[in-house]
Amino acid sequence: MGRTRNYRRWFLTRVKKAISDYSMISDGDRVVAGVSGGKDSTALLFILAYLKSYSHLRFELEAVMLDLGWGEVDFGPHRELCRRLEVPLHIRAHPVAQIISEKADMNPCALCGKLRAGILNNIALDLGASRVALGHHLDDVIETWFLNLIFTGQMKTFLPSTYLSNTGLTLIRPLVYLPERVTVGLVRSEELPVITNPCPYNGFTKRDEMKRIVRELSARYPDFRERFLTGLQNVSLENLWKQRGGFRSRPPGDGVPARGEQGS
Ligand code: SF4
Repeated sequence: MGRTRNYRRWFLTRVKKAISDYSMISDGDRVVAGVSGGKDSTALLFILAYLKSYSHLRFELEAVMLDLGWGEVDFGPHRELCRRLEVPLHIRAHPVAQIISEKADMNPCALCGKLRAGILNNIALDLGASRVALGHHLDDVIETWFLNLIFTGQMKTFLPSTYLSNTGLTLIRPLVYLPERVTVGLVRSEELPVITNPCPYNGFTKRDEMKRIVRELSARYPDFRERFLTGLQNVSLENLWKQRGGFRSRPPGDGVPARGEQGS
């Protein structure tokens, strides 16, 4: 029990630092946590409930889970967790799976991401929220950077906190300082429930490819993730090149896809 409590406190310290560094939550905020039921968002829900109970911050916390229509999902363990944490839970169904299957020409994950974000933000607005908390961790930050670099030729990733001027909501990502293995550790030590994503694309996405790259780099350079995070906060703007348009470094017809030809 002592080890579990220590792990929780250690985890919370890093979450609090991210919240403080990027002014994610203030007194009086109503925060909606987007919970897919996977390990990351479940860890986020747990730690925000813990933060709410044991910090000086005075904010409201509610959880939203979406039933995307991929198949039978048991929400029972998460209902029980929210009851134990005293966090109101809202479960809403939306035919995202059906929409994706009808648009076979589109990248399913890109479409899914847009649909889910829109649905979650609308629910948050209905609930009177000012913040939407998402369970993205440090590995997600790095994977997104590689996705953008490799498939769109841009050096960028998502921000810890993003204000959406069209809705007035702010998206916050309190786990950005924590690698994925740490969220797995919290889920294990707290024996939190996890829903396995029943989506048929799960495990076969470009993001999964990036995940393997990040793991390989981290195996070779053990401090890779922490160095990457430091690098993101230490950008040397004067050393970034001026925009000159894209170019291909190989002649046409050599079998290497040009920009924009890579698919999903
Ligand atoms: S793997 Fe499935 S659930 Fe996840 S983003 Fe892609 S389409 Fe959506």
